[in-house]
Amino acid sequence: MELAFTPEQEELSRTLRGFARKELQPHSARWDKSGEFPWEAWRKMGELGLLGLRMPTAYGGQDADYLTFGIAMEEIGRGDFSCTYGLQLAGFAGEILGRGASEEIRRRWLPPTARGETVIALALTEPGVGSDASNLTCRAAREGDGYVLTGEKSGISLGMVAQAAIVFARTGGPRARGVTAFLAPLDLPGISRSPMRDMGSRAIARAVLAFDHVRVPASHRLGEEGTGFQGRHSPRGVPLAVLSRALARRPRPAAYQGIRHDQVVGAAACRGHDPSMPVASRPLRLHR
Ligand SMILES: Cc1cc2nc3c(=O)[nH]c(=O)nc-3n(C[C@H](O)[C@H](O)[C@H](O)COP(=O)(O)OP(=O)(O)OC[C@H]3O[C@@H](n4cnc5c(N)ncnc54)[C@H](O)[C@@H]3O)c2cc1C
Repeated sequence: MELAFTPEQEELSRTLRGFARKELQPHSARWDKSGEFPWEAWRKMGELGLLGLRMPTAYGGQDADYLTFGIAMEEIGRGDFSCTYGLQLAGFAGEILGRGASEEIRRRWLPPTARGETVIALALTEPGVGSDASNLTCRAAREGDGYVLTGEKSGISLGMVAQAAIVFARTGGPRARGVTAFLAPLDLPGISRSPMRDMGSRAIARAVLAFDHVRVPASHRLGEEGTGFQGRHSPRGVPLAVLSRALARRPRPAAYQGIRHDQVVGAAACRGHDPSMPVASRPLRLHR
């Protein structure tokens, strides 16, 4: 298969490389160390249309293809890794809200997110449920004209700065078919957030989000009950490739510790399997 960039994609790549070199790279180390969130850069990325790449045009987006999205991720990543999260998360919001949200929610949240004025986080991972996400335990119980959310999400990128989060919670039976997605404004009563102490990429502002009987209107449900995971994996390949490169630089001892303490698929990850081999060999493969 021949894969060539169009003249517009070549131009985009050149423009973004210049932008990343001038506007992001000089500040990257400072953001990373201090954890200062780069709002100014965020708004500039919004002006360039980068935060609306995977959003429908009717809500201020570009509806761009995945190759264009990948070019943008790579060039922005050259300047600053944390800023790629702007593209990733606005991309998730564009796809998930664009597909499953009511007209009112789309109009309220998509245009300001495309402009870089609001941030929508993605709250899937839980303290004991990472890779095995379909076993999540956060619950959304139907009560009158809304749902009551209870549970905890951890490792949520931009969780300390976001105005809303797409929260995956269990409304029905076991595994993926019992999971529903909601848009939860993060100023709702009962939500608290606390910062994570990361070893790097601190500007991503990862957080633990706790939901203590949080009432979410039924209008904030994204799609039908039990459809939370439908299509969710479609935009993940490119973001995860970029994420993997950064993860390869993480100090290994802490990674091992995390694995020993975590529970995956109902059993400790290191029982019966040896996760240390894939973890140890991943950086070697990535640096080749
Ligand atoms: C920088 C960063 C940003 C993140 N941002 C977000 C975010 O915005 N929103 C969000 O919801 N989450 C986020 N996460 C969390 C991320 O999605 C999880 O870290 C990921 O799903 C893996 O889960 P885990 O860390 O619990 O690892 P685990 O699930 O514990 O897996 C650890 C290791 O064990 C291996 N493993 C898993 N199962 C088995 C098995 N059965 N047998 C053998 N080996 C196994 C895995 O392949 C992996 O190598 C972020 C994480 C990072 C590092």
